[in-house]
Amino acid sequence: MSKLIDGKKFADTLCKKISKEVAKLKSKNITPGLAVIRVGEDPASTVYINMKAKKTEEVGMHSVTKILNENTSEEDLLKIVGELNNDDSINGILVQLPLPEQINENSVINSINPDKDVDGFHAINTGRLWSNIDSLVPCTPLGCKMLLLNELKDLTGKKAIIVGRSNIVGKPMASLLIGENCTVTIAHSRTKNLEEEVKKSDIIVAAVGVPEMVKGSWIKPGATVIDVGINRIEKDGKNKLVGDVEFKEAEKIAGAITPVPGGVGPMTIACLLHNTLIATCRKNGLEIPKFV
Ligand code: NDP
Repeated sequence: MSKLIDGKKFADTLCKKISKEVAKLKSKNITPGLAVIRVGEDPASTVYINMKAKKTEEVGMHSVTKILNENTSEEDLLKIVGELNNDDSINGILVQLPLPEQINENSVINSINPDKDVDGFHAINTGRLWSNIDSLVPCTPLGCKMLLLNELKDLTGKKAIIVGRSNIVGKPMASLLIGENCTVTIAHSRTKNLEEEVKKSDIIVAAVGVPEMVKGSWIKPGATVIDVGINRIEKDGKNKLVGDVEFKEAEKIAGAITPVPGGVGPMTIACLLHNTLIATCRKNGLEIPKFV
């Protein structure tokens, strides 16, 4: 049986450390502020946004949530982002994706001041990440990297495969693992012999969005498995959350594995707060705390 990588515990510890750093900033009259914008009233996103706001306040940060009507125009959204860019009490801006079809996501993401782009999706931050220049790094891959470093300490020379090439998970994850001296393969829906590619890998990051697609039998014995997937399925008449990895079989073979839920998910919010703290320190010319 493999070791369970407890992302919730790690995220709780990280949030406590962030909270201590926030207290230090507050003693200098600096309060980090995070603004989250959602367009539309999707119930699942609303729950998620409320959770973000609660966590933001728990660590002592200033939280602003803006829920806009589903029919909001791109122009109106850009205006709100512009106001937050100019608001000194706000250090981080996150626009919840996906956006309704009348709004161009890239235009909105790239309208955020890159120094406040705590999701790390702005083209400037993407370029910085790939160029090894200090940047704000997308939260989910950053959380995965922290879990991997905590588990394996040194990733040098490991063969890593990332299944999924999205801009928000797969591609930044690849950059982070190259930065940790891994030999990285990025797989996607057109990859041939995926099973063979996965079988060669010491580290597997699954970010596909297909329930239990990566089979337990594909895992190299002792490999470390990070399951980013969050899929809601119906099983035995009940609603269940499962990842992109066939957990029951994979945990018999892997060296260590993240569960779903309780693995990568909690790390994403913790890293959002981490990025807001970093953005605040940079803006004020203060030393950047290091947590891993
Ligand atoms: P996307 O849909 O943007 O990307 C999915 C990727 O998986 C694509 O690159 C796609 O390939 C690839 N893919 C799809 N089917 C296959 C297949 N059969 N074989 C190989 N590759 C395949 O998803 P995201 O990156 O946004 O999210 C991935 C998963 O992670 C989802 O379950 C999502 O819910 C979850 N997630 C979880 C987060 C968390 O906080 N834990 C945060 C963000 C996402 P191609 O490019 O060729 O189409």
